[in-house]
Amino acid sequence: MINPEEIIDDLPTYQVRISHRAKRMQLKVSPLGEVEVVLPKRISKKHVAPFVAQHQAWIKQTQKQMAALYPPEELLPGTLRFESTNQQWQLQYLEGKRARVAEIQNALKVYSQDDEAARKALQQWLNRRASEVLIPWLHDVSDELGLTFKRAVIRAQRTRWGSCSSSGTISINRALLFMPAETVRYLFVHELCHTREMNHSPRYWALVERYTPDYQRHEQVLNKGMRLIPRWALAV
Ligand SMILES: [Zn+2]
Repeated sequence: MINPEEIIDDLPTYQVRISHRAKRMQLKVSPLGEVEVVLPKRISKKHVAPFVAQHQAWIKQTQKQMAALYPPEELLPGTLRFESTNQQWQLQYLEGKRARVAEIQNALKVYSQDDEAARKALQQWLNRRASEVLIPWLHDVSDELGLTFKRAVIRAQRTRWGSCSSSGTISINRALLFMPAETVRYLFVHELCHTREMNHSPRYWALVERYTPDYQRHEQVLNKGMRLIPRWALAV
């Protein structure tokens, strides 16, 4: 006989994100294998563990697929390419007491004492790039559409590309730099439209469609896109 408590003990670790918009509980597995449960606000937290337990086989299988897609040796890249801005760099890893990244034309020189410090420096460089490129771009699309927001922040989320809070804060995933420019624009349109409609109602989608008629194509690109992001850029 199996003790039900043992099953609960054996659950994968997971994080819970409370959603005002979700109607049902959802499970997400990030490229690094982390599990997130999206919990609709009106559903009690006590339902989460049984829900995860029920989907254990699916979680394990998805984690295996992700591990195969993202081998650990990809953690320090040899080249780096931003599809959004059509830029590419060759990377060099050099000894240095203070970890830092120096950009010299098409080369990025990463100075550090070890691999872990090199990766951290590269991630910080990515954060800065994301702020410099994506935030002004979001402002441009906001001006163009006449849809305003209060604040924009860069995040390193692994299961979401962006979000818009009811207080008007738009979160942007730094990994968008790796996506095509039209898809980045679509994500901005998507979040800006939420400043009008905090839901995914037909009225909301009609608004999105007005600004991005081929939005469904971009939704597909984003749905598959997280798998195309280099592993080092997803690690925090
Ligand atoms: Zn949305």
